Amino acid sequence: MSILPIYNCFHPILKIKTEPVKEINDDIKNLIADMFETMDNTGNGVGLAANQVGKSLSIFVINVSELEEYPDITPFACINPEILEYSNDTITISEGCLSSPELYQDIERPNSIKIKYYDHEMNEIVKTFDGFLARVLQHEYDHLQGILFFEKLSNFKQTLIKNKLNKIKNSKYDIDYNMINYNGTLKKSTWDKIDE
Ligand code: ZN
Repeated sequence: MSILPIYNCFHPILKIKTEPVKEINDDIKNLIADMFETMDNTGNGVGLAANQVGKSLSIFVINVSELEEYPDITPFACINPEILEYSNDTITISEGCLSSPELYQDIERPNSIKIKYYDHEMNEIVKTFDGFLARVLQHEYDHLQGILFFEKLSNFKQTLIKNKLNKIKNSKYDIDYNMINYNGTLKKSTWDKIDE
């Protein structure tokens, strides 16, 4: 297994809709294992999409086991997910993203969703989620469609965070994981630099 660099939200791969997975082979199994390891290495990630590690495939991984609300939810992968239903009631929660460090914004989304996906053994699963977990799944699902969370903000609010977004685009932030900049170069973890 290996820890992969995470792609900056301004890298073009994060704006492309991902391709469905056709079969679970060793490459896919290894990718999923690497995604879990990469997410856990960030220290605060609860979800990670495959295009965030440079693979344009319809897969995301979730780990909410550190949160006290979800003691029974073990880390899981969602392959080729499809959101079947969104609730009419909405909830506003502050969101962040491993691809856009130091940016947190209140985002309104449906409170619950019904989602169909395939697990790591290609078993079809249909489940309803609500609250924070439904939120994480919607954020990751959007990644697979090429949509970033701050694009959910009104045009006016996006204007207000323009400076923050420019800083992210120009890699002006400290992080403790490696990132691929928007132009494909590598920004090393701040901690690696301290060790050097
Ligand atoms: Zn994200």
